[in-house]
Amino acid sequence: MGDKVVGTADGSFTIWSSEFGESYHSVSAGALEESLKKFLIPSHLLFKPNKEVKILEVGFGLGYNFTVSVVHLLRNSPNTEIHYVAFEKEINPLIGELSLPEPYGDFYERLKEQLLKGRTLIEIDSVRLEILLGDARRKVRALKETFDAVYHDAFSPRRNPELWTFEFFRELKRLLRKDGWLVTYSTALPVRRALKELGFKIFNTQPVGRRSPGTAATISGKPLKESEIYPLSPKEERKLEISPKAVSFRDPCLCLSRKEILNRYLLEVSKRERSF
Ligand code: SAM
Repeated sequence: MGDKVVGTADGSFTIWSSEFGESYHSVSAGALEESLKKFLIPSHLLFKPNKEVKILEVGFGLGYNFTVSVVHLLRNSPNTEIHYVAFEKEINPLIGELSLPEPYGDFYERLKEQLLKGRTLIEIDSVRLEILLGDARRKVRALKETFDAVYHDAFSPRRNPELWTFEFFRELKRLLRKDGWLVTYSTALPVRRALKELGFKIFNTQPVGRRSPGTAATISGKPLKESEIYPLSPKEERKLEISPKAVSFRDPCLCLSRKEILNRYLLEVSKRERSF
Protein backbone atom coordinates (compact mmCIF):
# COMPACT_ATOMS: atom_id res chain seq x y z
CA MET A 1 0.00 0.00 0.00
CA GLY A 2 1.39 3.43 -0.92
CA ASP A 3 1.32 6.82 0.81
CA LYS A 4 -2.04 8.59 1.00
CA VAL A 5 -3.53 11.94 1.98
CA VAL A 6 -5.57 11.84 5.24
CA GLY A 7 -7.61 14.44 7.17
CA THR A 8 -6.70 15.71 10.67
CA ALA A 9 -8.80 17.04 13.57
CA ASP A 10 -8.36 20.75 12.73
CA GLY A 11 -9.56 20.27 9.13
CA SER A 12 -6.06 20.31 7.60
CA PHE A 13 -4.70 17.34 5.68
CA THR A 14 -1.52 15.33 6.08
CA ILE A 15 0.08 12.27 4.48
CA TRP A 16 0.22 8.74 5.83
CA SER A 17 3.68 7.28 5.13
CA SER A 18 3.78 3.64 4.06
CA GLU A 19 7.54 3.42 4.78
CA PHE A 20 7.13 4.47 8.41
CA GLY A 21 3.58 3.21 9.02
CA GLU A 22 2.67 6.62 10.49
CA SER A 23 1.22 9.93 9.39
CA TYR A 24 3.38 13.06 9.08
CA HIS A 25 1.23 14.86 11.67
CA SER A 26 -1.05 13.93 14.52
CA VAL A 27 -4.44 13.11 13.04
CA SER A 28 -6.17 13.52 16.43
CA ALA A 29 -4.46 16.79 17.40
CA GLY A 30 -4.57 18.47 13.97
CA ALA A 31 -1.54 19.24 11.83
CA LEU A 32 -1.61 23.05 12.05
CA GLU A 33 -2.47 23.09 15.76
CA GLU A 34 0.54 20.91 16.38
CA SER A 35 2.89 23.17 14.38
CA LEU A 36 1.78 26.18 16.36
CA LYS A 37 1.56 24.74 19.86
CA LYS A 38 4.29 22.11 19.85
CA PHE A 39 6.87 23.96 17.79
CA LEU A 40 6.51 27.71 17.25
CA ILE A 41 5.07 28.81 20.63
CA PRO A 42 7.46 26.79 22.86
CA SER A 43 10.44 27.76 20.65
CA HIS A 44 10.15 31.27 22.25
CA LEU A 45 10.89 32.87 18.86
CA LEU A 46 7.68 34.91 18.80
CA PHE A 47 8.53 36.51 22.11
CA LYS A 48 12.10 37.56 21.33
CA PRO A 49 11.70 39.54 18.09
CA ASN A 50 14.99 39.82 16.29
CA LYS A 51 16.32 41.21 13.00
CA GLU A 52 17.38 37.71 12.05
CA VAL A 53 15.98 34.34 13.14
CA LYS A 54 17.68 31.04 12.43
CA ILE A 55 15.78 27.76 12.70
CA LEU A 56 17.01 24.21 12.14
CA GLU A 57 14.43 21.51 11.51
CA VAL A 58 14.86 17.75 11.67
CA GLY A 59 12.32 16.38 9.16
CA PHE A 60 11.03 19.07 6.79
CA GLY A 61 8.20 16.76 5.69
CA LEU A 62 5.36 18.70 4.09
CA GLY A 63 6.72 22.08 5.16
CA TYR A 64 3.89 22.78 7.63
CA ASN A 65 6.12 23.78 10.56
CA PHE A 66 8.07 25.98 8.18
CA THR A 67 4.97 27.67 6.76
CA VAL A 68 3.22 28.20 10.10
CA SER A 69 6.38 29.59 11.73
CA VAL A 70 7.28 31.92 8.89
CA VAL A 71 3.77 33.34 8.53
CA HIS A 72 3.48 34.12 12.25
CA LEU A 73 7.03 35.41 12.68
CA LEU A 74 6.61 37.80 9.76
CA ARG A 75 3.23 39.01 11.02
CA ASN A 76 4.81 39.68 14.36
CA SER A 77 7.84 41.43 12.97
CA PRO A 78 7.63 42.06 9.18
CA ASN A 79 11.28 43.03 8.67
CA THR A 80 12.71 39.87 10.21
CA GLU A 81 15.06 37.86 8.02
CA ILE A 82 14.43 34.17 8.47
CA HIS A 83 17.04 31.57 7.70
CA TYR A 84 15.56 28.07 7.89
CA VAL A 85 17.68 24.99 7.39
CA ALA A 86 15.97 21.59 7.27
CA PHE A 87 17.05 17.98 7.06
CA GLU A 88 14.89 15.78 4.87
CA LYS A 89 15.33 12.31 3.37
CA GLU A 90 13.11 13.09 0.37
CA ILE A 91 10.27 15.44 -0.51
CA ASN A 92 7.01 13.50 -0.80
CA PRO A 93 5.50 14.13 -4.27
CA LEU A 94 1.98 13.98 -2.74
CA ILE A 95 2.51 17.53 -1.43
CA GLY A 96 1.15 18.53 -4.85
CA GLU A 97 -2.28 17.43 -3.59
CA LEU A 98 -2.16 19.47 -0.38
CA SER A 99 -3.32 23.00 0.34
CA LEU A 100 -3.55 25.04 3.53
CA PRO A 101 -6.22 27.50 4.71
CA GLU A 102 -5.50 31.20 5.22
CA PRO A 103 -3.41 32.78 6.62
CA TYR A 104 -1.05 30.08 5.32
CA GLY A 105 -2.57 29.31 1.91
CA ASP A 106 -0.75 31.80 -0.36
CA PHE A 107 2.62 31.23 1.23
CA TYR A 108 2.20 27.44 1.02
CA GLU A 109 1.33 27.60 -2.69
CA ARG A 110 4.51 29.60 -3.36
CA LEU A 111 6.54 27.07 -1.39
CA LYS A 112 4.99 24.05 -3.11
CA GLU A 113 5.64 25.49 -6.55
CA GLN A 114 9.37 25.60 -5.79
CA LEU A 115 9.45 22.21 -4.04
CA LEU A 116 7.71 20.49 -6.93
CA LYS A 117 10.40 21.87 -9.27
CA GLY A 118 12.94 20.02 -7.11
CA ARG A 119 14.46 23.21 -5.63
CA THR A 120 16.26 22.83 -2.31
CA LEU A 121 17.39 26.44 -1.94
CA ILE A 122 14.28 28.60 -1.88
CA GLU A 123 13.90 32.34 -1.27
CA ILE A 124 10.47 33.81 -0.60
CA ASP A 125 10.51 37.52 0.39
CA SER A 126 12.83 37.79 3.41
CA VAL A 127 12.89 34.04 4.01
CA ARG A 128 15.70 31.75 2.94
CA LEU A 129 15.03 28.02 3.10
CA GLU A 130 17.78 25.47 2.63
CA ILE A 131 16.75 21.81 2.51
CA LEU A 132 19.58 19.35 3.08
CA LEU A 133 18.44 16.22 1.28
CA GLY A 134 19.65 12.82 2.47
CA ASP A 135 20.18 11.08 5.80
CA ALA A 136 20.25 13.81 8.46
CA ARG A 137 22.95 11.92 10.34
CA ARG A 138 25.36 12.42 7.47
CA LYS A 139 24.37 16.03 6.82
CA VAL A 140 24.47 17.20 10.42
CA ARG A 141 28.23 16.87 10.80
CA ALA A 142 28.95 19.38 8.04
CA LEU A 143 26.92 22.17 9.67
CA LYS A 144 28.88 24.78 11.58
CA GLU A 145 26.52 27.74 12.13
CA THR A 146 24.36 28.05 15.24
CA PHE A 147 20.57 28.36 15.42
CA ASP A 148 18.05 30.13 17.68
CA ALA A 149 15.78 27.08 17.71
CA VAL A 150 15.79 23.45 16.69
CA TYR A 151 12.51 21.81 15.69
CA HIS A 152 12.78 18.05 16.06
CA ASP A 153 9.92 16.54 14.07
CA ALA A 154 11.01 13.11 12.86
CA PHE A 155 8.62 10.17 12.84
CA SER A 156 8.21 8.52 16.25
CA PRO A 157 11.25 7.20 18.15
CA ARG A 158 10.15 3.58 17.67
CA ARG A 159 9.77 3.99 13.89
CA ASN A 160 12.56 6.45 13.17
CA PRO A 161 15.10 5.77 15.99
CA GLU A 162 18.18 6.98 14.09
CA LEU A 163 17.12 10.59 14.64
CA TRP A 164 16.46 10.24 18.37
CA THR A 165 19.81 8.95 19.63
CA PHE A 166 22.15 10.49 22.20
CA GLU A 167 24.78 11.00 19.50
CA PHE A 168 22.40 12.74 17.10
CA PHE A 169 21.11 15.02 19.87
CA ARG A 170 24.73 15.81 20.76
CA GLU A 171 25.17 17.16 17.23
CA LEU A 172 21.97 19.22 17.58
CA LYS A 173 23.21 20.62 20.89
CA ARG A 174 26.39 21.77 19.15
CA LEU A 175 24.27 23.69 16.62
CA LEU A 176 21.85 25.29 19.10
CA ARG A 177 22.67 28.58 20.82
CA LYS A 178 23.03 28.10 24.57
CA ASP A 179 19.91 30.19 25.23
CA GLY A 180 18.00 28.64 22.30
CA TRP A 181 15.26 26.03 22.54
CA LEU A 182 14.98 22.53 21.11
CA VAL A 183 11.31 21.59 20.74
CA THR A 184 9.64 18.32 19.83
CA TYR A 185 6.27 16.61 20.10
CA SER A 186 7.84 13.56 21.76
CA THR A 187 7.92 12.90 25.49
CA ALA A 188 9.41 9.41 25.14
CA LEU A 189 11.69 8.42 28.02
CA PRO A 190 14.74 7.59 25.82
CA VAL A 191 14.40 11.02 24.17
CA ARG A 192 14.17 12.98 27.40
CA ARG A 193 16.91 10.87 28.95
CA ALA A 194 19.31 11.66 26.08
CA LEU A 195 18.55 15.38 26.43
CA LYS A 196 19.08 15.24 30.17
CA GLU A 197 22.41 13.43 29.83
CA LEU A 198 23.50 16.18 27.45
CA GLY A 199 22.79 18.84 30.09
CA PHE A 200 19.47 20.19 28.80
CA LYS A 201 16.80 21.48 31.19
CA ILE A 202 13.52 19.85 30.21
CA PHE A 203 9.97 21.26 30.19
CA ASN A 204 6.53 20.07 29.09
CA THR A 205 4.75 21.95 26.33
CA GLN A 206 0.99 22.36 26.44
CA PRO A 207 -1.07 19.34 25.39
CA VAL A 208 -2.73 19.60 21.99
CA GLY A 209 -6.07 17.82 21.46
CA ARG A 210 -6.26 14.73 23.60
CA ARG A 211 -2.59 14.01 23.18
CA SER A 212 0.18 14.24 25.74
CA PRO A 213 2.36 17.35 25.94
CA GLY A 214 5.57 17.71 23.97
CA THR A 215 9.07 18.63 25.15
CA ALA A 216 10.96 21.93 25.18
CA ALA A 217 14.63 21.81 26.18
CA THR A 218 17.34 24.41 26.65
CA ILE A 219 20.84 24.66 28.05
CA SER A 220 20.57 28.13 29.57
CA GLY A 221 17.41 29.77 28.15
CA LYS A 222 14.92 31.36 30.55
CA PRO A 223 11.37 30.02 30.16
CA LEU A 224 8.86 32.76 29.36
CA LYS A 225 5.23 32.56 30.46
CA GLU A 226 3.95 33.24 26.91
CA SER A 227 5.70 30.11 25.65
CA GLU A 228 3.22 28.00 27.64
CA ILE A 229 5.77 25.51 28.90
CA TYR A 230 5.90 24.14 32.43
CA PRO A 231 8.31 22.07 34.53
CA LEU A 232 8.08 18.30 34.77
CA SER A 233 6.10 17.04 37.78
CA PRO A 234 8.04 15.26 40.57
CA LYS A 235 6.52 11.99 39.29
CA GLU A 236 7.81 12.64 35.75
CA GLU A 237 11.26 13.61 37.09
CA ARG A 238 11.42 10.43 39.13
CA LYS A 239 10.37 8.24 36.21
CA LEU A 240 13.11 9.81 34.10
CA GLU A 241 15.63 8.90 36.81
CA ILE A 242 14.58 5.40 37.76
CA SER A 243 12.50 3.75 35.05
CA PRO A 244 14.40 0.89 33.36
CA LYS A 245 13.07 2.29 30.08
CA ALA A 246 14.72 5.68 30.68
CA VAL A 247 17.90 4.95 28.74
CA SER A 248 18.91 6.79 25.63
CA PHE A 249 19.09 5.23 22.17
CA ARG A 250 22.72 4.87 21.07
CA ASP A 251 24.32 5.13 17.65
CA PRO A 252 28.05 5.82 18.24
CA CYS A 253 28.98 5.93 14.54
CA LEU A 254 25.76 7.73 13.48
CA CYS A 255 25.41 4.88 11.03
CA LEU A 256 23.56 1.98 12.68
CA SER A 257 20.37 0.57 11.20
CA ARG A 258 17.01 1.23 12.88
CA LYS A 259 16.88 -2.38 13.98
CA GLU A 260 20.37 -2.27 15.52
CA ILE A 261 19.54 0.87 17.49
CA LEU A 262 16.30 -0.60 18.85
CA ASN A 263 17.91 -3.97 19.67
CA ARG A 264 20.69 -2.25 21.64
CA TYR A 265 18.08 -0.28 23.53
CA LEU A 266 15.92 -3.32 24.34
CA LEU A 267 18.97 -5.22 25.55
CA GLU A 268 19.91 -2.36 27.87
CA VAL A 269 16.34 -2.12 29.19
CA SER A 270 16.17 -5.84 29.95
CA LYS A 271 19.54 -5.66 31.79
CA ARG A 272 18.18 -2.80 33.89
CA GLU A 273 14.90 -4.62 34.55
CA ARG A 274 16.81 -7.62 35.85
CA SER A 275 18.91 -5.49 38.20
CA PHE A 276 15.90 -3.65 39.72
N1 SAM B 1 7.98 18.69 10.08
C1 SAM B 1 7.17 18.15 9.02
C2 SAM B 1 6.08 19.11 8.64
O1 SAM B 1 5.95 20.16 9.30
O2 SAM B 1 5.35 18.84 7.68
C3 SAM B 1 6.70 16.72 9.29
C4 SAM B 1 7.89 15.78 9.44
S1 SAM B 1 7.52 14.07 9.32
C5 SAM B 1 6.85 13.68 10.88
C6 SAM B 1 9.14 13.37 9.48
C7 SAM B 1 10.07 13.60 8.30
O3 SAM B 1 11.37 13.11 8.63
C8 SAM B 1 9.64 12.88 7.03
O4 SAM B 1 9.48 13.80 5.99
C9 SAM B 1 10.80 11.92 6.73
O5 SAM B 1 11.07 11.77 5.35
C10 SAM B 1 11.96 12.60 7.45
N2 SAM B 1 13.04 11.66 7.82
C11 SAM B 1 12.91 10.44 8.42
N3 SAM B 1 14.11 9.87 8.59
C12 SAM B 1 15.03 10.74 8.11
C13 SAM B 1 16.46 10.74 8.05
N4 SAM B 1 17.17 9.71 8.51
N5 SAM B 1 17.07 11.82 7.53
C14 SAM B 1 16.36 12.89 7.07
N6 SAM B 1 15.01 12.96 7.13
C15 SAM B 1 14.36 11.90 7.64
